[in-house]
Amino acid sequence: DVKRRTRNGWQVFSPELAQRQHDRLQIESRLHRALDDEEFHLVYQPQVDLKSGQLIAAEALIRWRNSQLGELRPDVFIGHAESTGDIVRIGQWVLREACRQVRLWQDAGLGIVRVAVNVSYRQFVGEDLARNVRQVLEEFDLPGTALELEFTERVLIEDAPDTLQTFGRLREMGVLLTIDDFGEGYSALNYLRRLPIHGLKLSQMFVEGVPGNRSDVAVCEAVCGIARSLGLGLVAEGIESEEQRHALHGMGISVGQGFLFAPGLAPDDFARRLARRG
Ligand code: C2E
Ligand code: MG
Ligand code: MG
Ligand code: MG
Repeated sequence: DVKRRTRNGWQVFSPELAQRQHDRLQIESRLHRALDDEEFHLVYQPQVDLKSGQLIAAEALIRWRNSQLGELRPDVFIGHAESTGDIVRIGQWVLREACRQVRLWQDAGLGIVRVAVNVSYRQFVGEDLARNVRQVLEEFDLPGTALELEFTERVLIEDAPDTLQTFGRLREMGVLLTIDDFGEGYSALNYLRRLPIHGLKLSQMFVEGVPGNRSDVAVCEAVCGIARSLGLGLVAEGIESEEQRHALHGMGISVGQGFLFAPGLAPDDFARRLARRG
């Protein structure tokens, strides 16, 4: 067997490994051109009031359609885009596209709806995220409060030099700052005190087990307690059943997102929901 040195140590070279590397290169080379070839689009998943069902905000989720590879979910390609660095340009596109859409809805008389955009830890390194955000908000004449940024705990772990300052500047603009997938990984709770954030999104990983799984329920309750005592907002993700909605609402969570309410919607479908909101 031929042995290859990888970042993780030694691996035995095998046909399967060769195939995987081939697939990876396929994805990465196509991904690199996807933005210029206009292969991305966004869908918008409603965030709703758990009690009334009223629409509160939208989360923009990226989708990639490639003629060779088909439809790809972000879980499949975001990691690649992060390792090649393409995520920085892609992330800028997502930010601008989401704000452009909010402006379109507003111009269509549907009122202003806040949009949440996912931000990769790589967007905090070597680019001025706060400046990009300011420019995009100005371009579409939107208040900072129309935008929410969701980032994962990885941003805090990587701890790029200007992260804290970036958060401060974003917060000054009125942009909402939220930690996504809270509870899944890493978690050192000490950063919750030093970061100027507004809220947490309770990971779907735990929501899934509510109300049947006792330890998942315990984690959800603990996260509720943390959010409450630190004065942070809390959104539960991945709500699929009425039972889950009921149980989470009973824990004091007021906002949720999930297939029970709607999956990511095309802009026109989301607009119809907006039109119905009181
Ligand atoms: P996320 O930000 O935690 O987004 C929630 C994911 O859960 C979405 O998957 C959504 O479609 C899915 N989801 C929503 N409700 C339910 C439910 O009730 N049940 C289940 N099983 N799933 C539900 P999606 O769109 O495949 O995105 C996966 C992840 O990819 C996102 O997780 C986010 O971390 C990342 N991502 C998506 N769009 C972007 C983007 O524009 N930029 C970056 N950097 N990451 C993105
Ligand atoms: Mg998210
Ligand atoms: Mg999430
Ligand atoms: Mg996730």
